[in-house]
Amino acid sequence: MAEKEKETKILRVRNIYDDMENMQTAAEILAGGGLVAFPTETVYGLGANALDERAVAAIFRAKGRPQDNPLIVHVCDLDMIGPLVAEVPEAAIELAGRFWPGPLTMIFRKSDAVPAVTSGGLDTVAIRFPSHMVARELIRRADVPIAAPSANLSGSPSPTTAQHCIHDLMGRVDAIVDSGSCGVGVESTVISLAGEKPRVLRPGGVTVEQLREALGDVEVDPAVCAPLADGVQAASPGMKYKHYAPRAHVVILRGGREAFAAYVNAHRDGKTYAMCFEEDVPALGVPYVVYGGERDDASQAAHLFSALREMDELGAETVYAHCPARTGVGLAVYNRLLRAAAFEVIEL
Ligand code: AMP
Ligand code: MG
Repeated sequence: MAEKEKETKILRVRNIYDDMENMQTAAEILAGGGLVAFPTETVYGLGANALDERAVAAIFRAKGRPQDNPLIVHVCDLDMIGPLVAEVPEAAIELAGRFWPGPLTMIFRKSDAVPAVTSGGLDTVAIRFPSHMVARELIRRADVPIAAPSANLSGSPSPTTAQHCIHDLMGRVDAIVDSGSCGVGVESTVISLAGEKPRVLRPGGVTVEQLREALGDVEVDPAVCAPLADGVQAASPGMKYKHYAPRAHVVILRGGREAFAAYVNAHRDGKTYAMCFEEDVPALGVPYVVYGGERDDASQAAHLFSALREMDELGAETVYAHCPARTGVGLAVYNRLLRAAAFEVIEL
C-alpha cells in the first residue's frame, strides 16, 4: 500500500452555489489527473479521470484495492455514455428512463476508449449517473467521466460521511469534498446488461422488485446471498473479497426480538455489543448501536456503515447484528452485513 505522502485538501461544499470556488478546485484536481473523494447519494466515492490510466492506477494504490476489481464510471448526462460503450441495449434505455439519475449501475460491453485498468481487465464497463448535485456538478466541471469506487480503504466499511473518508484516506488523496452525509447509505445496485438476461450482481438503493417491474425477468446472482463456491468465477469481482468489516468479529443473528435479546444478553462481558433495531433496545442488557427501525430498510441502509465503524470506536470485540428482512433495500443491507460477518449467520 502507498505511503501517506500527499497533502490532502478538505473542501467544504454546503451546496454547489455558495461554495463554487471549492467545487472548481476539486474539478481542476480531477481534470489534472488527481484523486478527489466526493459525496454521492449512495456513499462517498474516490474519483479520478476514468480515461487516464495513471490517475486510475492511483485510485487502486490509495485504497489498497485488488487490481482485478473494476471501477464504476460516473457520468453527469446520457451523452457521455456513447463513447464508453460498444452498444446500448433496449433494457438500458428503459432502466435509465426510470432510475437515472440515481443509485443504479449498469454494465455494458465496453469501447476501446475505456482503459483496461478501469474495467479490471474485463471487456465490460460499469456506468452510473448519480443524482447527488455535488457529484453531478463536479463531473460536469471536470468534463471527463469519473471512475469512482467507494472512498474507503479496501475491506473497511464504506464511507457515508467526509469524516469516514478523512479517517481512511488523509494523506493518500489530493482532496476530500465535505458535504455531510449520504442519503441512501449503501452502494448502488449493479445490474449486468452484457449477458443473455439482465442479472443483479449487487443489490442496492434500486431494488430487485423495482427492476423486475421495469424489465420482467431479472436474475439475481447467487453470490449476492452466499459465498462463492470454490472454483466459480465471480461475475462481479468485488464480491469475492472480504468487505465492509470492522476490526470486531461480526456475527449475524437471525430470529425474532426476544430470541435476539436472549442470545446477546447471555454474553454480558463488556466487549460484546448488539447491532440492533430501535425496537430491540428495551430488552437489551448489553451495550448496543442502533442501525435503524425493524421495518424501515431505508434507515437501516443509511446507518449500517457508520454503525459498523462506531463498533471499532467503542472497542467492541464481538458484534451480534440483528438480521434485516431480505426484501426491498433490506437485501442490500443483508448483502453488506453478510460480508462484514464473513458469512457467519446463527439461526435462533
Ligand atoms: P465499488 O466501486 O467499491 O462500489 O465497487 C464496484 C463494484 O462494481 C464491484 O463490486 C465490482 O466488482 C462491480 N463492477 C464494476 N465494474 C464491473 C464490471 N465491468 N463487471 C462486473 N462487475 C463490475
Ligand atoms: Mg467499495
